[in-house]
Amino acid sequence: MDVASRYHALKTEIYPWFEPQWLRIKQLFATEKLPHALMVNGAKGIGKLHFASSVAQLVLCHKNANGAACGECRSCQLFSSSGHPDLYHLAPEEGVEQIKVDQVRDLSSFMQSTAQQGGYRVVILDPAEAMNLSAANALLKTLEEPGKNSLLLLLSNQLGQVMPTIKSRCQRVDCPIPERDLAVHWLQQKLSIEAGVASQLLKVVHGAPLLALTFKERGEQELRAEFFVGLKSILQGKTTAIALAPQYAKKDIKLLLSWLYSLLVDVAKLQVAGEGSSIANADMAKMLAALAKRSQAKKVYALADKVQWQRSALLAHQNPNKQLLLEDLLIDWKKLI
Ligand SMILES: [Zn+2]
Repeated sequence: MDVASRYHALKTEIYPWFEPQWLRIKQLFATEKLPHALMVNGAKGIGKLHFASSVAQLVLCHKNANGAACGECRSCQLFSSSGHPDLYHLAPEEGVEQIKVDQVRDLSSFMQSTAQQGGYRVVILDPAEAMNLSAANALLKTLEEPGKNSLLLLLSNQLGQVMPTIKSRCQRVDCPIPERDLAVHWLQQKLSIEAGVASQLLKVVHGAPLLALTFKERGEQELRAEFFVGLKSILQGKTTAIALAPQYAKKDIKLLLSWLYSLLVDVAKLQVAGEGSSIANADMAKMLAALAKRSQAKKVYALADKVQWQRSALLAHQNPNKQLLLEDLLIDWKKLI
């Protein structure tokens, strides 16, 4: 396996909403009760990898002054420069969704080797649901007999998709969506924006602050706006699903489907709770209100289910024809009214 992708400097940061989890880990470590395997689970984009990296640095540090990594010892230096030889970061290879069985076998031999710096050996596996069945089975043995001074940090965005046999061998570290005020304040400072703008941005990304950052930085805000204009045009008969689908087939389809799903959830909410209910896509309120009035609830639910099913299929690593998939969904979108 490519060594460069295995060992590299990882960003460590404890975001304010991770304080309770951080405190718990530090206590477990200080009292020598840290388990061999942790399942750090929570929504995508809240900072789980940076948290896990902080935990890794903590246990790898040679000094551990006042319950925190010292930042100065040889271990800490390695950690923040070229990457620590006793830290193994395992993620899907570039352009691939899955963690393959061969990758897990490499990891197992790493776990059986002796720590080069004489302390812990740490694995960060991100995300656990990316392991297919054989990869997960290959990891079981390592989870059962991890060896002394070893720590496996499994990250998960969708705990429901992780094999039960894997889950049951890890102690769970649940990481909820950050409390809104805390996240708004953090985002405001990060992006130098007004509280109202930060709050709206957070709604679009379902409360995940780091997603809000990438949303801004990668121009996803523009893509979303453009996609929604397209959706509106379909409803208005100004364009068709067939004409629009090719434009978006090369974009991040999972992202597009998550936005489409979010719109449908809003429509369903408006139909049930009426106008004035709290919706994620407040900037599309007018179109959503019109849709809520003119569409049948069962059609909205059916389409939402279909979108969700396609999202799971994409996450389960099936590789559909994106253009056909989009066409199909957009045709149903048009049929809502
Ligand atoms: Zn240190």
